[in-house]
Amino acid sequence: MVNNKFFRECVSIMAENGIESAYFDTKCIFEDFPHADRKEILSMVEKRSAGYPLQYILGTWEFYGYKMTVNENVLIPRPETELLIENVISLCRKNNIIRPVIADLCSGSGCIAIALDKEIPESEVTAVEISGKAVEVIRKNAEINHSDIDIFCADVLRNETAEIFSGIDIIVSNPPYLTTEEMNVLQKEVTFEPVTALYGGADGLDFYRKMIPLWKKSLKNGGYIMFEFGDGQHEEVGNILEHNDFHNITFSRDLQKIIRSVTAQKQEVL
Ligand code: GLN
Repeated sequence: MVNNKFFRECVSIMAENGIESAYFDTKCIFEDFPHADRKEILSMVEKRSAGYPLQYILGTWEFYGYKMTVNENVLIPRPETELLIENVISLCRKNNIIRPVIADLCSGSGCIAIALDKEIPESEVTAVEISGKAVEVIRKNAEINHSDIDIFCADVLRNETAEIFSGIDIIVSNPPYLTTEEMNVLQKEVTFEPVTALYGGADGLDFYRKMIPLWKKSLKNGGYIMFEFGDGQHEEVGNILEHNDFHNITFSRDLQKIIRSVTAQKQEVL
């Protein structure tokens, strides 16, 4: 493939348009569309060259080793979000939680819910997502991964939604957390992702402020909350958790050493 003239032309087109991962991206397109003709390939290469995300062009992307369908209706799964999966798995192991009841809030593509369901086979996982179009993607992803998660289309910020749930062991979420400032300087690729999956209000913390008090009631005593958040938000997220009487608050860093997620426990009532 590397010796193929057309392949090299495609790499050049992308590189000339400033795509740093030109070789990798071209390779993915060639591999994923082995039967596409030159015209079809070129149109994908041009799309990518204009900053359109590779993942949306391919239509699938891997998360925690599982293939996920992605399109413009859902956020593209990020490698740093795999940290949430690792943390939930190790939490269950450490605390001997064998059949955890898990709710994934703002589920998007469903990647978190599905990876957890696959990795913790005895778990009972529900994905909650407001967007009907995203829910279609979750359904598809559950199907291709043979996952039997429950899927619930609802607004996680409404009391009526949280009220339906009780006895949850672990709430996990990667809510929208970008600030107004960050929204103004998005990387080109990110501008194609749904704003509703990215924007978390002026300081990016709206979802944490609203979700934590609302969903606390649905959590078992001694149950856990696990959130992803953005660079520099850990202190504020920690404070919100503390104000809501959560304890054992611990943070973890992603592969780039950025403090990226938190685990917190709801007080046990003795
Ligand atoms: N991690 C995403 C980004 O940096 C944001 C995802 C989110 O808001 N949950 O673009």
